[in-house]
Amino acid sequence: MSLSFDPRTLALPAGHFIGGSYVEGTPAIEVRAPSDGRTLADIPTADVGTVDRAVQAAKAALAGSGWASVRPRERVRALHAWADLIEAEAETLARIEAVASPRPIAEAVTGDVMIAAEQIRFFAEFADKECGDLVPTADTQMGFIASEPYGVVGAITAWNVPLALAGWKLGPALAAGNAVVLKPSEMTPFSTLHLAELSVRAGLPAGLVNVVLGDGPTTGAALVAHPEIGKISFTGSTRAGGAIMENIARTGIKPLTLELGGKSPQLVFADADLDLAARCITRGILGNAGQGCVAGSRVIVAREVADELAERIAQKMKDITPGPTWDEATTYSPIISEKQLQRIDSIVDGARLAGAEVLCGGGRIEREGSFYQPTILAGVERGSVALAEEIFGPVLTLQAFDTEEEALDLSRHPTYGLCSGLFTRDLSRAMRLVRKIEAGAVWVNRYGRSRDHILPTGGWKASGLGKDLGREAYLANRRTKSVLIDL
Ligand code: NAD
Repeated sequence: MSLSFDPRTLALPAGHFIGGSYVEGTPAIEVRAPSDGRTLADIPTADVGTVDRAVQAAKAALAGSGWASVRPRERVRALHAWADLIEAEAETLARIEAVASPRPIAEAVTGDVMIAAEQIRFFAEFADKECGDLVPTADTQMGFIASEPYGVVGAITAWNVPLALAGWKLGPALAAGNAVVLKPSEMTPFSTLHLAELSVRAGLPAGLVNVVLGDGPTTGAALVAHPEIGKISFTGSTRAGGAIMENIARTGIKPLTLELGGKSPQLVFADADLDLAARCITRGILGNAGQGCVAGSRVIVAREVADELAERIAQKMKDITPGPTWDEATTYSPIISEKQLQRIDSIVDGARLAGAEVLCGGGRIEREGSFYQPTILAGVERGSVALAEEIFGPVLTLQAFDTEEEALDLSRHPTYGLCSGLFTRDLSRAMRLVRKIEAGAVWVNRYGRSRDHILPTGGWKASGLGKDLGREAYLANRRTKSVLIDL
């Protein structure tokens, strides 16, 4: 059966989802399909009052359902029931995802929807496994560390992989006993709304998952500043992460998790399996057309194999099928908007004018929608925009090195430290470099996270604060209480 569909037949939710029901508002933000630029819906912007309504609905759901105080196994069961329904509705959810985001339908069905469901299952299983510590005290006392949820967690997500990001935020927060008010990106809000709707249909208390629509400066800022939100979990740009820190500092301190941008290096040594490296590098930059925080955008390669590697990558980059995200045959994503495509193009042009060599690509793909050619730039000046800034498009830079020290030096970005790839057959070198690379993740002879969620993800330096995934993400949604009793 074909997964292709006609986007005009798809009904999209376009109101906030508060207390288990859709709530309409004045249409304010036009949402467009990146594949062909058509307008999909005009969504409202939640103001301070609407955000407060969502927070009150979340508090009422916690109070009415005892979500935080029921036997933890009840939470596990309820979350698995939700994940079951998400899987059962995979095709509908994937269609909703594919229509507004850059995710092709075939990838959305087998990837994004399953990742969201798996996040919920993975974190659900922590809910009844966490144990506290009894601490050493005198016999006349007893001391232990208890942990409790925050209450209402505020989450804000980016547009690039909306469903997966919603799963990252909702899974651990709910499993840990919190309710959530989530603001998805104003460019891709629909799949998150449907996910929330499914939570109620699966039997989770209405109001446990609320979704408010709107932009960052209005709705996002109101959520961050709300005095009854216990913790903020954010995924987006480093710029917005900074604005959120300022907002929190101004309006009342609360814990914060930030998953931010990156400019991740891929180090390739002369002894590496070059075909494997080329395959991983190509996937690592062309996945979602480079619109991924983990995009491995800086190739740092031993000089003696640089030409051969570039040749192999350029060859593999030809194997793309751009097309509408609602076409099953599409494997190559559109750029989210024409504005973002223009930005990518101007960075590539700037590099070219400054003397960089364009080994392949370097312009838009002439067809309907905003598609950009897979591009390799060599000889880019150190410190230039193409090397310094996250491009968030299918653009690789190539730098050659002569020594291991030089490779390491080139790999270090002045601000970012999200992840890194390393290709070598020399185990000693790999272990040496794993210790020295400045990033929250190092992938050796592969590129990308595993589908098991046990390894936490989160950047060093300006790439983030705290972790998503792994046990860390569950614990980050609970706060400890030290108890000392004189017996
Ligand atoms: P963005 O920062 O523009 O927006 C992200 C979200 O933050 C949106 O929902 C937006 O409305 C909101 N927002 C913006 N300004 C805000 C403010 N002042 N206060 C509160 N909320 C605000 O990012 P984007 O363009 O949607 O996404 C791309 C960025 O996200 C890239 O930098 C990418 O690297 C990053 N990202 C990081 C990860 C990760 O895990 N590290 C994952 C996905 C995306």
